[in-house]
Amino acid sequence: MNSWKDNIRTVEPYVPGEQPKDTNVIKLNTNENPYGPSGKVNEVKLDMNNLRKYPDAKVSALVNKLAEYHNIKPEQVFVGVGSDDVISMCFMTFFNSDKPIFFPDVTYSFYDVWADVYRIPYEQKKLDENFNIVKEDYMAENGGIIFPNPNAPTGILVDTDFIEDIVKANPASVVIIDEAYIDFGGKSVLPLIDKYDNLLVVRTFSKSRSMAGLRIGYAMGNSELIKYLNDVKYSVNSYTMNTPSIIYGSAIIDDEEYFRSTLDKIISTRERFVGELKRLGFNVLPSKANFVFASHKSVDANVIFETLKEKKVYVRHWNAPRISDYLRITIGTDEEMDKLISLLEDIC
Ligand code: PMP
Repeated sequence: MNSWKDNIRTVEPYVPGEQPKDTNVIKLNTNENPYGPSGKVNEVKLDMNNLRKYPDAKVSALVNKLAEYHNIKPEQVFVGVGSDDVISMCFMTFFNSDKPIFFPDVTYSFYDVWADVYRIPYEQKKLDENFNIVKEDYMAENGGIIFPNPNAPTGILVDTDFIEDIVKANPASVVIIDEAYIDFGGKSVLPLIDKYDNLLVVRTFSKSRSMAGLRIGYAMGNSELIKYLNDVKYSVNSYTMNTPSIIYGSAIIDDEEYFRSTLDKIISTRERFVGELKRLGFNVLPSKANFVFASHKSVDANVIFETLKEKKVYVRHWNAPRISDYLRITIGTDEEMDKLISLLEDIC
């Protein structure tokens, strides 16, 4: 007998990081920013009656603000519900070849889920033994390319020339650079979008701008790429962005001083924390993100993970090939990292 179950789109779902209810937990597991968003959000007066109306499907207020901030044209900006939504739309729009798309074997674990759900063939290119992306792997014929810069969960950054070589070598593919963590010490490839019509740069408000709860992400690229993205978005769900997100998101972009000051704090806490981890016998990959990826020379990563969890400090551990010895630890406040270090002194 046939069943409706023969006709469903099954997929192995993405597993998001834990969001514990207990507010006493030191939460270093999903790369949130420990400092709140810019105080400009408090100056916003939301007219609740306005919520009866549909939001602006074009998201013009936020698109215009972002274009001005990045010194590009509004036609070069696409906004979505977090960069997850933006990248998901990109997979749907740009990855339609029979050829496999390429991304690293150790990278953001949503990429293979999107490829599976949209039935896109893919090849995961092995990072080298030091967890570096191997440029030559991205020179073969493909249906598209995506990787984060810095990569996640390794935190390792590549330079602009590295990416330009890949973009230049693949004129028949869209190359998506996921810059979720670029503000924590990396150099963006944004200036290349006027030079190459196949490059798309994706950013998020969830990390450096401390607004994970609002769900705002955006892509920047050649206006033709953005047009195709908008065509698909309008055809799937025109009203993705809600009115409060558009208003709050637009309000904080100008607060450069606060933005820079929190980034400086996170970067200096990261550098201090890396030194402490090394002192405690960890091998730490060179991170330009708001997290570090570290493995202890003798103590099992899962033991550290579980012991920390019992003590109400959450970090991230994957039982996955190549990375099961590693922990990904988000950079919190100095006080949070001091607490973690004192616990690690007992465990390691
Ligand atoms: N890209 C990378 C590399 C990430 O780590 C994340 C956060 N999990 C995202 C994209 C998605 O972030 P958001 O949807 O909150 O913008």
